[in-house]
Amino acid sequence: MYKLNQIVFTKKNHVCGSNKWKVVRVGVDIKLECLGCGRIIMLSSYELDKKIKPILSKKELSYLAENNPQDKADTSE
Ligand SMILES: [Zn+2]
Repeated sequence: MYKLNQIVFTKKNHVCGSNKWKVVRVGVDIKLECLGCGRIIMLSSYELDKKIKPILSKKELSYLAENNPQDKADTSE
């Protein structure tokens, strides 16, 4: 599942060279804003699943930690 304002990394870089995207809309389709150039694309969650990087580099993980704060309260399972 994708959340609003979540940062995601794609396997392939966008034409601007960035692979960082912010989720700006969730629903039947997902809208992503490229954090390199600000362009917005729309994908189905199925397509997005295939484009997302499954394993992130340390640099990407630390970017996420700084820019994508987790909801700490959400630990009930
Ligand atoms: Zn871009």
